[in-house]
Amino acid sequence: MMPTRQGSFRLFRLFGINVFLHWSWFVIAVIRLQYHGLEYGSYVWYGLEYVTLFLIVLLHEFGHALACRSVGGQAQQIVLWPLGGVAYVAPPPRPGAVLWSIVAGPLVNVVLVPVLTAASVLTSSGGWADSVPNLHALIHAIWLMNLGLLIFNLLPIYPLDGGKILWALLWFVFGRARGLMIATVIGGLAVLAMVPLVVGQGDPWLYVLAGFILLNCWKGWVEARALARFENIPRCDGFACPVCKSKPLRGALWRCGKCGQSFDTFETNAVCPHCGAQFSTTACFDCGNSRPLGEWLIPAVVPPKL
Ligand SMILES: [Zn+2]
Ligand SMILES: [Zn+2]
Ligand SMILES: [Zn+2]
Repeated sequence: MMPTRQGSFRLFRLFGINVFLHWSWFVIAVIRLQYHGLEYGSYVWYGLEYVTLFLIVLLHEFGHALACRSVGGQAQQIVLWPLGGVAYVAPPPRPGAVLWSIVAGPLVNVVLVPVLTAASVLTSSGGWADSVPNLHALIHAIWLMNLGLLIFNLLPIYPLDGGKILWALLWFVFGRARGLMIATVIGGLAVLAMVPLVVGQGDPWLYVLAGFILLNCWKGWVEARALARFENIPRCDGFACPVCKSKPLRGALWRCGKCGQSFDTFETNAVCPHCGAQFSTTACFDCGNSRPLGEWLIPAVVPPKL
């Protein structure tokens, strides 16, 4: 149930990242307007509040995307949909790189806390609450939204940022696959434990959220199982992916695009032993990038001359 670009349209492109907006944002906007109390004098302020919420989510997602790039990962698009934004990031498969790519999102909200607190205090002390009550209420609402988003995102429930941070931390100790298994089980159990609360509240929004988390925990668990099988395949020494630096898998795992047979490209120097086809690039199973085989070679360490 992860959002796809289907049903969304491109808003703009910044730092080489395409930003898409999902149509459901408009439905949620209308619903929210209907359920709001009378905090503002006119609807314009609700509009402003909504646009600001949108901007905060966008900044959060840019935090993820730019952090991912800074560690050599890929980040090309952000889709904004009502359960928050999704930055499509592919950090290199190292726990430190993954951890930084995830932490950078909530970090944006952390930075915003003192900024918004200062703005809120300023408008309270300056007597703005009386002279411009709508602006004062708006700043307070934004302050609350930012804090709410931060706390919610840091819940250690996969696939929320907190749950992914938990995964990256577990990865350091237990490895990628087992770390993900533990994180998805914790996330799933946490949501199941909250079922009485969700039913008690009767809020349809909470049902959607619980379902979304459970489904993603299940998908994460399945992915972790696949990763565990993948981790047991021996690795080949002497080569490393030029992009993510991981050693290639050993075995007849590459499929020839011409004859369809499998072979070990690192043993045959990128030539299919069945039909003789030569391949100019070799794909990495870890990061998905394709680079010429020559770039995969790790230069032999030459002892320094004394
Ligand atoms: Zn995030
Ligand atoms: Zn790679
Ligand atoms: Zn072939």
